[in-house]
Amino acid sequence: MNQPERVPTTLTRVPNRTVPPPLDVVAIRAQFPILAQLSRGKRLAYLDNSATTQKPEAVIQALDHYYRHDNANVHRGLYELAERATGAYERAREVIARFLGAQHDEIVYTRGTTEAINLVARCYVQPRLEPGDEVLVTGMEHHSNIVPWQLVGAKVVAAPVLDDGALDLAAWKKLLNPRVKLAAVVQVSNTLGTVNPVAEMVRAAHARGIPVFVDGAQAVAHMAVDVKAMGADFYAFSAHKVYGPTGFGALYAKRELLEAMPPWHGGGDMIRTVTFEHSTWNDVPYKFEAGTPDIAGAVGTAAALEWLEAVGLDAVHAHETALLDEATRRVAKIPGLRIIGTAPGKAAIISFVMDSAHPQDVGDVLNMEGVAVRTGHHCTMPVMARFCIPGTVRASFGVYNDAADIDQLEHALQTVKRLLG
Ligand code: PLP
Repeated sequence: MNQPERVPTTLTRVPNRTVPPPLDVVAIRAQFPILAQLSRGKRLAYLDNSATTQKPEAVIQALDHYYRHDNANVHRGLYELAERATGAYERAREVIARFLGAQHDEIVYTRGTTEAINLVARCYVQPRLEPGDEVLVTGMEHHSNIVPWQLVGAKVVAAPVLDDGALDLAAWKKLLNPRVKLAAVVQVSNTLGTVNPVAEMVRAAHARGIPVFVDGAQAVAHMAVDVKAMGADFYAFSAHKVYGPTGFGALYAKRELLEAMPPWHGGGDMIRTVTFEHSTWNDVPYKFEAGTPDIAGAVGTAAALEWLEAVGLDAVHAHETALLDEATRRVAKIPGLRIIGTAPGKAAIISFVMDSAHPQDVGDVLNMEGVAVRTGHHCTMPVMARFCIPGTVRASFGVYNDAADIDQLEHALQTVKRLLG
């Protein structure tokens, strides 16, 4: 039998960086006011960062400042406030573009990753789709990287996941065929923590003339991303998973693809001219941004990305890897606990099941101990089916997590053992 191809999980990283200085986690925690509170009378150990991250003062203050001093509609007014609001809104596009290694006119604002994927489905895949055409995904996708392709009528084909949670890369490559209109792949699995070799996948797909969408929702907060080096045709992320506000995100797409795509929503700002007979479209990316946008969302996102850049993504990655190693060592010692997703080079996400207790019951006990984790299928039902489990308990780490969070998680799991067997 052929051995599945093992994936060296190389990250797309900023080149020529030396070892980063250690991160000052005490100083970082002090910038997140929400972490100072008690939960169920205990210290709050927030370990649900894959669902959403907490917000630093820099983001809270940017939102506050915007609404106190700069609020006006963008692109329309000639007065001073409108100029400032438009300036802040468009400066955010420059910040996002720099953060991803893109050009500013390749950044389309969206409500988040989900909306970005729906945009690609409607405006890129649907117009090109013929009966039987496929979108190739992996078996570890979030539902948002499955359902939008189904909604536009594509046949969704998924490459298998190996027992340790790594992608079966050889099988994925074999599924690249002329019917595949788009390969859509998650960069970091929100359930398994697996880091997919997206640059290699892009090269393989492009060699067969297939464009690639990369879901960066779980990547951008944890590793430096350069979409040009990666070669992705489309890339999406959500601000709330990278210390920014909810309801905001971005789609990166190569400029020539955006130019060739029809608009999505119709309304103000996305047009150049309108008559009752016919309308013409604004330049990209505005062609895809109908209506009054989430201006504060853009401002808050820029603040979050600049804050994270100042902390340094290499330092963040080193810090989270150390947390992952230590937490894995400690939770693996709990009798009857099984980690789902152990691929080499994985991100700081630990999904597990326990012999004696349903994930929800584990989550309830952890909650009583002040430990915030996610339980359930994590919007990845096919992953649950693959591993024949109803759900997992998921502890996911962020920049402000520390050794005390791991102690608290371990202690809470010992309480689960004591209470539930
Ligand atoms: N993709 C992945 C891998 C995710 O983890 C999530 C959210 O958990 C999404 C997409 C959807 O993100 P959002 O709900 O912010 O649109």
